[in-house]
Amino acid sequence: MAIYQCAKCGEVVDKRCKPGKCPKCGAPKDELIKQEGQASGGKCCG
Ligand SMILES: [Zn+2]
Repeated sequence: MAIYQCAKCGEVVDKRCKPGKCPKCGAPKDELIKQEGQASGGKCCG
């Protein structure tokens, strides 16, 4: 589990995989900053 925060609107997304985009403002995934460094689980949903 990892948490991503949107650098654009501040929305926090709690997902196992990195979201494709911010669900709130639609910012591209490049704007989503990972907040946890725990799970280095490789890839799942891409
Ligand atoms: Zn956003």
